[in-house]
Amino acid sequence: TQACLDAVEASSALNAFVHNTPEIAIAQAEAADARLASGDAPAMCGLPLGIKDLFCTKGVPSQAASRILQGFLPEYESTVTQNLFDAGAVMLGKLNMDEFAMGSSNETSVYGNAVNPWRRGNDDTPLTPGGSSGGSASAVAADLCLAATGTDTGGSIRQPAAFTGITGIKPTYGRCSRWGVVAFASSLDQAGPMTKSVRDSAIMLETMCGHDPKDSTSANLPVPNFEAMLTGDIRGKVIGIPKEYRLDGMPEEIGALWDDGIAMLKAAGAEIREISLPHTKYALPTYYVIAPAEASSNLARYDGVRYGHRATLAQGDGITEMYEKTRAEGFGHEVQRRVMVGTYVLSAGFYDAYYNRARKVRTLIKQDFEAVFEAGVDAILTPATPSAAFGLGEMSEADPIQMYLNDVFTVTVNLAGLPGISVPAGQNKQGLPLGLQLIGRPWEEGDLLNTAYALE
Ligand code: GLN
Repeated sequence: TQACLDAVEASSALNAFVHNTPEIAIAQAEAADARLASGDAPAMCGLPLGIKDLFCTKGVPSQAASRILQGFLPEYESTVTQNLFDAGAVMLGKLNMDEFAMGSSNETSVYGNAVNPWRRGNDDTPLTPGGSSGGSASAVAADLCLAATGTDTGGSIRQPAAFTGITGIKPTYGRCSRWGVVAFASSLDQAGPMTKSVRDSAIMLETMCGHDPKDSTSANLPVPNFEAMLTGDIRGKVIGIPKEYRLDGMPEEIGALWDDGIAMLKAAGAEIREISLPHTKYALPTYYVIAPAEASSNLARYDGVRYGHRATLAQGDGITEMYEKTRAEGFGHEVQRRVMVGTYVLSAGFYDAYYNRARKVRTLIKQDFEAVFEAGVDAILTPATPSAAFGLGEMSEADPIQMYLNDVFTVTVNLAGLPGISVPAGQNKQGLPLGLQLIGRPWEEGDLLNTAYALE
């Protein structure tokens, strides 16, 4: 723990940690020592972790990287972090992220962007660690912590994992309790681990998940021993290769990475099958209607009264001015854009044309996956991202579509509620890590982790 705390101090230029909690870390580490000495050593005992700022941590600033939550100190602990602490984990501090988890580059954070520890060859241009769990990815990749929590609404665990050469899994919707995790899009949000290896992900996921009566969408299902399922034996497994994911204009290095992954799984004894997920082309527009719609509703609670920041008012200002000024000052541009898009697609007259239509297309996307799994496919292999990590500032804020395209391979998994994992699978010519994604059947994270283990 002390070595990690020192590394966090020494690596502040990465801007991965936005709030350090050394006193808590030392106290938890001492408690873990005592447990170990008494022979009681749960899975995560004494392991120093970073916690994404989206998780409410009791008495510790939890701002979702937003100005509007400035000064907010939760009076409760999120279920996921509580589960980790109960299993002996140590919290080093809170990790940077995109504001309210909206973004793919960590550039919408009120704390400024986190930086990717990797560089393109000899080029010094600072690169994004991806987003929204950019701080988590940067911290794990730079060895500031052993693992970190992330959340994934449309790819925010898997894309930053791919950009930094680490492993990240988004479990089936309902596996991890969302209680105490600041809500972005409630029907898509899931927490998951971001780790250095598939084995670490298996151990940490098992600790994080489980039924929670405080979250009505949390599944009341037994949690298997995921680590025990890592045999590396995938003989006879059927791996689907969706033809719609071979995009026009996809960089050659991504196509080559995918082919290498296919060859590896085949060599390990899996059967490779070309499959079709015909509604894939509608996934991004569907996601970028549903996610902002839910966000606009979830973010209505930031009114200047209940949490965090409140604008300074002028003489004669009433409650309307208080709301307007607080929200104008408290939310960054991307969050404002999502709230406006979301409010628009939910408004009378547009609801049927946009929101309701998106919900129907979401069902079609889900049914594409169901049909493939029913036909005997065990897991689906795709690239995790359409490119390697890009330079900070390289994607313009004025062209959000360019940024949204980062999520092309990941959002389908959230829309369908399926588990998806990103595993490091090689490097491009400039030496940057690239990731492959495996998508599994609902509730079969153990199998999915095992297939990823064979690819690792
Ligand atoms: N990049 C996507 C977005 O901006 C996904 C974010 C996430 O998974 N939290 O909405």
